[in-house]
Amino acid sequence: MPSAGSVNDRVLVLMPTLRDAERTGELLLEANVESVLCSDLGHACRELCRGAGALLLTDDVLLHDTAGELALTLRAQPAWSAVPIIVIAREGATEHVQRTASDALTGLVVVERPVRTHSLLSVVLSSLRARRHQYDVRDAIAARDAQSAALAAQEERLRLAMAAGRLGSWSIDVEKKELETSSLCKAAFGRSEDEGFTFEDLRAAIHPEDRERTLEAFDRSLETGGEWDVDCRVIWPNGETRWLLLRGGTVSGNGGPKRLVGVSLDVTERKRLQENLEASRIELASQAEQLRTNDRRKDEFLATLAHELRNPLAPIRTGLDVLSSGNQAPENARALGIMNRQLTHMVRLIDDLLDVSRITRGKLELKKERVTLGAIIDSAVEATRSVVASSGHSLEVDVRDADTAFEADSTRLAQVVGNLLHNAAKYTPRGGRLQLRASAQNGAAEIVVADNGIGIAASRLDDIFDMFSQADPTPRAAQGGLGIGLALVRTLVEMHGGTVRAESPGLGRGSTFTVSFPIESRGASLPAPSLPPPSNAPSARVRVLVVDDNLDAADLLQMMLESDGYATSVAYDSRSALELAATQHPDIAILDIGLPDSNGYEVARALRDSPENRDLLLIALTGWGSAEDKHKAAEAGFDVHLTKPVDGARLRAALSRGRSHHRCPAA
Ligand code: ADP
Repeated sequence: MPSAGSVNDRVLVLMPTLRDAERTGELLLEANVESVLCSDLGHACRELCRGAGALLLTDDVLLHDTAGELALTLRAQPAWSAVPIIVIAREGATEHVQRTASDALTGLVVVERPVRTHSLLSVVLSSLRARRHQYDVRDAIAARDAQSAALAAQEERLRLAMAAGRLGSWSIDVEKKELETSSLCKAAFGRSEDEGFTFEDLRAAIHPEDRERTLEAFDRSLETGGEWDVDCRVIWPNGETRWLLLRGGTVSGNGGPKRLVGVSLDVTERKRLQENLEASRIELASQAEQLRTNDRRKDEFLATLAHELRNPLAPIRTGLDVLSSGNQAPENARALGIMNRQLTHMVRLIDDLLDVSRITRGKLELKKERVTLGAIIDSAVEATRSVVASSGHSLEVDVRDADTAFEADSTRLAQVVGNLLHNAAKYTPRGGRLQLRASAQNGAAEIVVADNGIGIAASRLDDIFDMFSQADPTPRAAQGGLGIGLALVRTLVEMHGGTVRAESPGLGRGSTFTVSFPIESRGASLPAPSLPPPSNAPSARVRVLVVDDNLDAADLLQMMLESDGYATSVAYDSRSALELAATQHPDIAILDIGLPDSNGYEVARALRDSPENRDLLLIALTGWGSAEDKHKAAEAGFDVHLTKPVDGARLRAALSRGRSHHRCPAA
């Protein structure tokens, strides 16, 4: 049995008689060769097209193929194929067969009769071997074709990718300095596809400022064999400057010339975007700086504005005090009362404004001292008494642990509670019910201010504590306010290490504000702070020198002091102040700080330097009220620092200190 080979190994047998064909087939079978017995030439040609290792036939079949059917079939075979055609010919007919056979029969072998079995078999087997070599060639061609197809597909993909990425390719023969470029690479240098572009052209096209470092990158790559990339500007023939990214490496191809190869990419747009981005960044930074400057100026302006507003209020306050001192007709008393309340309101707004500017400039400072919870609450209730009363509200005050003492800034905490009470009165319709509860337990103080007023929407409960935030931003002439009260409350409470929160069951259902802060209570009670009781008792023997460049302020203050029974003199500048002091030896001097020819600090120092005035009571009365200002005043020798506009009661309290501690007590 022949091995089950493929059709390609079959021997096609075409004999004049079936008997001859069968005998040949048997013979081949014995040599393990598969055969196909063909009935005629047409049959043989069809089988040949399917595949055959050789065709074995007699010369008369060949000679009778006048139509050239076999030649046609063989010509249709692929180029690598030369099917062995073994022709059994009459004796001496070899030459005739070869001559008459078509050119197409390239694999022709003639075997003359008488045919010896052995030699026929050896011809068949060597023909099959030759045929197998042809198959090897065929396979090699197919493999090469497949490889070329894969390579072509790969190149096409690369070309598409490079085109999509706008990547040009270039290669330089290092020795000959010869440049090859793709059309995209040329385009990146502003050249058309058919224009020449040499290595020298490339060199010259690189911007002079970038040329050295670009060529250095080439050289480094040649030395180290490493990869590199470089951004450089190139100048196009039309004068346009573009940015290119060149990226490459060195190839020392198998014995071939050493080459620098790489890609080019036009990155002009990217560079422009980067430049725009950088410009925007710089612009933004400068705008931010400008904003900060403006903000700083605004804060400074606010501080100056508040101070300047305070100055004119001082004489108004004093004037009102003067007017209020005597017996008044009822309508005058009413008008004075209104003016006093409005003035208090205005002072409050200005104080808030000043505090805001202190917060934003980081200049708010606490002046801690030993205080009691009760004193803080009393002070706040006192400060808001008229607002609460004028709105017809009731105020329930429930203070536990009133005597608990701790370190805190009592003025600021009273301001916190005062602000909350003020708001409770402001945001509660007339005749409301306000509650103030305070306690100090387990190392913490808690102060609660509750009202049954307009309430606060849940969504606003947190941000009402932000600066300039108002739950209802529509103009509310009735309530007024700058939206800074609660921001101050929160800042001051936080400066005491505490927290403040707002609660409200909803609009129209009242609000509750809870302040809590840690206290270091030693359980000790403090005696109630005792300011000397204000007294109008005059003393003709107490001399007061008033120094202020604001004529109105100075004169009104003088009027008030005179009506209280003091002997007064007034100076509007520092020179006259010192002269008056030298001649009159006042017991008390009230000095403004900003003076035209010098300032209050210097006057104070000069007074303290003269032996006869060393003991006089020095009171600074100024619009500048920060801790730093107070510190400066103390350094200059002032005994008391009062911030304008000061009300009559406070000033009188300070003056009475002078009366009690100096040589001429009140009569
Ligand atoms: P102002 O009262 O000047 O507007 P605040 O900072 O004191 O500023 O208060 C901020 C906002 O919080 C107020 O505008 C008001 O809408 C709301 N608010 C404060 N206290 C109360 C309160 N007791 N009841 C209702 N709303 C309040």
